[in-house]
Amino acid sequence: MVDSPQGNTVETPHGDRSALLVHSERSIYSPGCIQPHGFLVGVSLADSSILHISSNAGDYVGQTPRELLGKPIGSLLMSRQFESLCNSIDTTISARCWIAAIPLVSAKGGEARNNEEHIQFFNVWAHHQGDRILLEFEPEVPPASQATFIAQSQLSQTVVRIQMASDVRSLLEQVVVDARRYTGFDRVLAFRFDASGSGSVVAESVGDRLPSFLGLRFPAVDVPQEARELYVHCHTRYVRDVNAAEIDLLAADDTSELDLTQAILRSPDPCCIQYLKNIGVASSLTISLIKDRRLWGFISCHNTTVKSLSASTISNCTSIGQVASLQLANVVESEDRLYRWQLQSIRAKFIRASRDADTLEEALFQQGNLLLAMVGAGGAAFCVDGTIALHGITPTLEQVRELLLWLKGQTTLPSVSEDLFATHHLASLYSEAHHFADTASGLLLLWISRTRNSAILWFRPELLQTIDWAGEPTANIQAEEAQNDRNGSVNEGSGNDGSVTLHPRSSFELWKETVRLHSEPWNRSEIESAQELRNSLVNLVIAKLEELAQINRELERSNEELDSFAYAASHDLKEPLRGIHNYSTFLLEDYADQLDEGGIDRLNTLVRLTQRMDSLIDVLLQFAQIGREELKIQLVDLNDIVQQAIELATAGRRDVNPTFSVPRSLPPIHCDPLLMERVFSNLFSNALKYTNSPDIQVEVGYLTPDEFQQQGMGQAEGESLLAPVLYIKDNGIGIRQRHLKTIFRLFKRLHAQKKYGGGTGAGLTIVKKIVERHGGRIWVTSEYGAGSTFFIADI
Ligand code: ADP
Repeated sequence: MVDSPQGNTVETPHGDRSALLVHSERSIYSPGCIQPHGFLVGVSLADSSILHISSNAGDYVGQTPRELLGKPIGSLLMSRQFESLCNSIDTTISARCWIAAIPLVSAKGGEARNNEEHIQFFNVWAHHQGDRILLEFEPEVPPASQATFIAQSQLSQTVVRIQMASDVRSLLEQVVVDARRYTGFDRVLAFRFDASGSGSVVAESVGDRLPSFLGLRFPAVDVPQEARELYVHCHTRYVRDVNAAEIDLLAADDTSELDLTQAILRSPDPCCIQYLKNIGVASSLTISLIKDRRLWGFISCHNTTVKSLSASTISNCTSIGQVASLQLANVVESEDRLYRWQLQSIRAKFIRASRDADTLEEALFQQGNLLLAMVGAGGAAFCVDGTIALHGITPTLEQVRELLLWLKGQTTLPSVSEDLFATHHLASLYSEAHHFADTASGLLLLWISRTRNSAILWFRPELLQTIDWAGEPTANIQAEEAQNDRNGSVNEGSGNDGSVTLHPRSSFELWKETVRLHSEPWNRSEIESAQELRNSLVNLVIAKLEELAQINRELERSNEELDSFAYAASHDLKEPLRGIHNYSTFLLEDYADQLDEGGIDRLNTLVRLTQRMDSLIDVLLQFAQIGREELKIQLVDLNDIVQQAIELATAGRRDVNPTFSVPRSLPPIHCDPLLMERVFSNLFSNALKYTNSPDIQVEVGYLTPDEFQQQGMGQAEGESLLAPVLYIKDNGIGIRQRHLKTIFRLFKRLHAQKKYGGGTGAGLTIVKKIVERHGGRIWVTSEYGAGSTFFIADI
């Protein structure tokens, strides 16, 4: 073969200037030459003339290539033959078809075209390519009919066996065994690519003449990208003899470059030939395994000696590959589906269990095991509002905290999505991960809320892997100087002109590599499961909020009903009570002389009790009224309200001389002034009542949220303050810690009926109700014996 790296057109070795060697830059698709076990003819679809012919055509037919080039195809075939060949080709797809037993006048036949003794039968591979049809002729060796029958029955059995395979492993094991039985090759292996582009031999059927490759890993460069693409388009590749001479193609027109992607006779790339020689192979057949239109792997058949395959065997092997590819898609999909279902049912279980949880923390922390199973993790860290909890096998709390901090600051991580990040080699991104590789070499991070610092981190431990490479993978490319290449001496490095020639690897000795700091990768189903969990959690929170809103609405309604009921009942009770009171009074007035002392005492008690009950009913009426009343909200000067409340509280109390102080002018607030006046007057009345001191001091003021925090007052209640907090502070008797909450209950008093001026125990309940109707909160702090401070916030 004449080498012309610049892609020039050069003279043929035969010195024939009309027939030109097509030798543009050699590529894997257009090598410009074919294997010698057949000949190739390119025919124009426009005028049926022969545009291309391989230079060995004269070895097979009774005419020289020169005689045939440019002539109508009728010079070679009978016109009906060409017509039926054309009809066999589906021009909508780029796949070759095979037609058996086409008779041609053989080389021995000379001009005697109708002499039957000189007729040779050929198998023809035909395919359509642009404006031409390529025909490849291989002399037919008539197979024994018994053999054909056996081959056909084997094929249909193989197809059935492939269709029965329920998992990838058994499918490939079946295919390699059947392909070997069917083709008779010394070794048949199934090769599968992984995500990194490398690949491993996952199934094999091998005899004694070649070593086993099972389990060995081959680096990505062993099957270059170009070759992978070729295998996607052309599903079977047959190299009959690695030592065979290459046959040039002749063309009628020097511009026509022939794409031989689909050509069965296409010459293999020299690199591929060298590779096969390096592994001791003389003949090879490669069958593509395609999934989702990508090369998933292939079935590779090797023979130590030249192996002639009939066209029918090659065609049937193509069918086996296609059926295997279909079944592969089926089993991979069903394996994936099964795993996805498992993960889905775990997620459903988690969500069901989480419905009863009150908070996200509770949901996550209590269902730790389900969360691990949901993505197949060994451990997890749940971080909610900055609080971290660990579950399973994880790094330490401090390490997780640091990791989370680092993750928060990362904006350029190769995320799966905005909320999701996955790696099975954390140490390559975060050097600290070296220290906890045993627990977390793999990380799957799901942000629930970045702003609230809430996330789930799933961990996978280090998976110490020993990879059995077929030869040292990094020693796979040798660069040679162009000069040295010709001299046959190897020089590592590029040539003087910078040119580099790739050479396949020559050593396939087992080369072990230990891979560290990696975990098992997270697969698509697991990553989807994490993403789905986030959606489920969001839905759960929304459902909880809706539930809460519903409860609130119901609560509001039942409160309203209760207020109406209390109002109506109190109102209706008043009348009979008045009757009892009046009759008791009449009895005392009109029948006192007929009653003894005991009777009169009892009647007096009855009158007193009716009066007390009357005042209790009044309080109940007031209480119910507050719930029913519509608020008349306006912006008011709190200083005025406080002033009026002081007057109200001190009006009937000439016995005391309290000092009211307001250290700084109070802020204006939006409220119902009458009701707010009632709040302050109630609190002031209590400050005047519940004291033993003659020097009563009452201070009314406010604290900004910052001041409130600084003074460390009532921290729990004041945690999320946005507006100033009002306070009313007295120097009274104080309240014991255990009563701080109960004093706000209706009719709750801490003292005997008559002590500290008596009361109904409803004052603070009414105060609380008014504050809450304004959307606020009230609470009290106290030092028993020294005084109390009431706080009002969020009004
Ligand atoms: P009443 O004053 O009618 O008893 P309240 O609801 O106003 O009802 O008060 C409930 C109880 O809380 C009171 O009985 C009293 O024991 C206690 N209390 C209320 N205010 C103060 C205060 N400023 N100092 C001490 N104890 C108080």
